[in-house]
Amino acid sequence: MRILLISDVHANLEALEAVLAAAPAHIAVWNLGDLVGYGASPNEVVERLIPLQNVAVRGNHDKAASGITDLSDFNPIAAAALVWTRNQLIATSRLALRQLARGPVLPSEGVACAHGSPLDEDHYIHSRREAWHPLAESPARITFFGHTHIQGGYQLEEQHCTSLKPNYHGGVEREVVTLALDSSHRYLLNPGSVGQPRDNDWRAAFALFDLSSMQLEWHRIPYNVELAQRRIREAGLPERLAARLASGR
Ligand code: ZN
Repeated sequence: MRILLISDVHANLEALEAVLAAAPAHIAVWNLGDLVGYGASPNEVVERLIPLQNVAVRGNHDKAASGITDLSDFNPIAAAALVWTRNQLIATSRLALRQLARGPVLPSEGVACAHGSPLDEDHYIHSRREAWHPLAESPARITFFGHTHIQGGYQLEEQHCTSLKPNYHGGVEREVVTLALDSSHRYLLNPGSVGQPRDNDWRAAFALFDLSSMQLEWHRIPYNVELAQRRIREAGLPERLAARLASGR
């Protein structure tokens, strides 16, 4: 009963293919949004993911790229990448992005998927302070979220909020960290970003959630960063979007 959890692929086909090849056996794919924006392969990523994902919520980049929102909330580099993405998207990709659900969605009892906060799809949860209300008021005891590109999360035990972070050795190899969920706690859990990690680790991030044993596995896997960077540069996207992939920042 394992679910593959992915988020913030951001049109990075090289990272996505590495994740799909490395992911252990699973019965479903839940995608927490931002399929496109920043990376060089928006159509390829949408076409690869749409038939695979059983649950998918929309991210702020998906909304802007498909014309649901304008670009006023984005910094200049993100906005430039979104203008490029809008010009690249073929009609079927744009429609698929427009049809993504607004989070939170509840694919299983007591479990929710959101892009940002379960209380507001565009809100970031970066700290215990920002986690407090979403933890207490989410429609589900376990909420998966993305948007920050930082693997980890928060737990609420009675009135006590703690942050959770996988403890990796770092380096270039594949690593897995397991978290056993306590049936009396509430959780906000972020699988990390497949295509543009920002937690100082360049490796692609994803997670596996076992619905029967209530265990979460956080994964990091190496992928062909150089190829993803070359394709961003060849596309004429801002240089910073290529450079940041190597440092995971
Ligand atoms: Zn994102």
